[in-house]
Amino acid sequence: MKIYVATKNQGKIKEINKILSDAGIECESFPNMEDVEETGVTFEENAKIKADFLSSKIKDVYVIADDSGLSVEALGGAPGVYSARYAGSHGDDEANNKKLIKEMQGVSNRNCKYECVIALSKNGKTIKTFYGDIKGEIAESEKGNGGFGYDPLFLLPNGKTMAEIEIEEKNKISHRYIALNKLREYFASI
Ligand code: IMP
Repeated sequence: MKIYVATKNQGKIKEINKILSDAGIECESFPNMEDVEETGVTFEENAKIKADFLSSKIKDVYVIADDSGLSVEALGGAPGVYSARYAGSHGDDEANNKKLIKEMQGVSNRNCKYECVIALSKNGKTIKTFYGDIKGEIAESEKGNGGFGYDPLFLLPNGKTMAEIEIEEKNKISHRYIALNKLREYFASI
């Protein structure tokens, strides 16, 4: 079965295919994808907005869309859905990390989690959503060169940051992996 994914990122498609292929699912980028404005205030809302809109464009095909980010307990869940644009401009990881270090200066509760919601839609309607998270702590300073986004500040229980572990290792524990695995289990069960 074929599923369209609301992303232009071929790396993401590859990662998703690796997880879903043994459930007989083959993923492809949504064809000629339009940008969809993420106007929701939760990860679930944004994932649904994208999957519902795109799936209304092509009849009878499954579309998945994900939304993810970092939630910090002491910051009331921020940066949350604003993770990509926390410091202002979209996707400026360096500025985002700088801002997070500053906001967390002197804060003793450093609990945080990465969260991911995947929405599965068909004909403009959400069929189901799938949630994954991974808990960690915000480090005092950046460590490691791997990963992306907040990974150099995301401390795992083993004392390493997400940017210090191999990508293969990250892909086995990540919020996205957990949500994708639930999607895989869903398709295996229907
Ligand atoms: P999106 O789901 O690609 O829109 O991700 C939104 C933002 O959340 C990214 O730009 C990152 O700032 C942050 N984020 C999501 N997943 C990760 C991750 O695995 N590592 C680091 N940052 C992440």
